[in-house]
Amino acid sequence: MEGLICHLPIGRDSNPLHILQTFILTMCVLMCTASCGKTGSVPSHTKKTEWGYEVENGPDVWAQLNPKYTLCANGKYQSPIDIVNPTPVKLPSITYAYNSTTDLNIQNTGHTIQVAYPEGSWIEVDGARYQLLQFHFHAPSEHTVGGQPFDMEMHLVHESEEGNLAVVGVFIESGRENADFTPIWDQLPSVPGESLHNESVSFNAIDLLPGPRSIYHYDGSLTTPPCSEGVKWFVLTTPIEMSEAQIAAFKAIIPDNNRPVQPLNGRKLFVDSTENE
Ligand SMILES: [Zn+2]
Repeated sequence: MEGLICHLPIGRDSNPLHILQTFILTMCVLMCTASCGKTGSVPSHTKKTEWGYEVENGPDVWAQLNPKYTLCANGKYQSPIDIVNPTPVKLPSITYAYNSTTDLNIQNTGHTIQVAYPEGSWIEVDGARYQLLQFHFHAPSEHTVGGQPFDMEMHLVHESEEGNLAVVGVFIESGRENADFTPIWDQLPSVPGESLHNESVSFNAIDLLPGPRSIYHYDGSLTTPPCSEGVKWFVLTTPIEMSEAQIAAFKAIIPDNNRPVQPLNGRKLFVDSTENE
């Protein structure tokens, strides 16, 4: 705008139009003097660093970015963990009651690709019902098994009426192309903040789970700020597969969004000892 207005030809006569042009030029110079000097000099203390996975905003410094994130540093029941030597017990089975949907809302949050799930789908475990809110992805996996990560991990996030969270974690390993993800992977939003809708297919999150649904179970936290605790974790022992191309497509948009494993701090870690369903 400055270039356009400030270089209007200025006449030397008393033509009212030229006087108006002179006035505009004067105002332009005054406004530029008042404001242009401030451009790009926002004081650094007013900038809030958004959490992420880089050195300057990654897991090691999450707690320093916001007072609400202190659990990320001080929490004793944090996730993810390395799954090693779990105690075999007969765990309560999980009932999955997921509905099909034709409305997929796929969002690039800047931290992951997240798919919002319509109301009415839930799991039931130990007499408590948790609604499926959304599912999203991490690469590489956040939980590890015996120190080994998988290529990716899917988290299906559920919440009870009381506000308690239960997350079902599913490991993803490189293998055959997985057509059940096609409605999402066909249109992964590549720009942070971008949302896409797919209303052309019938989709059910139950199809994303492996056949055998035996679980590891422990009590942990969100793996992202604010790292809230009291989250019930159910990590399926059987991984699912995706092709290398599918995994690469995700990593091209969201590289390395995994929080490192956290100390168990004496927590109980279980593995289901009953036969696979
Ligand atoms: Zn997650």
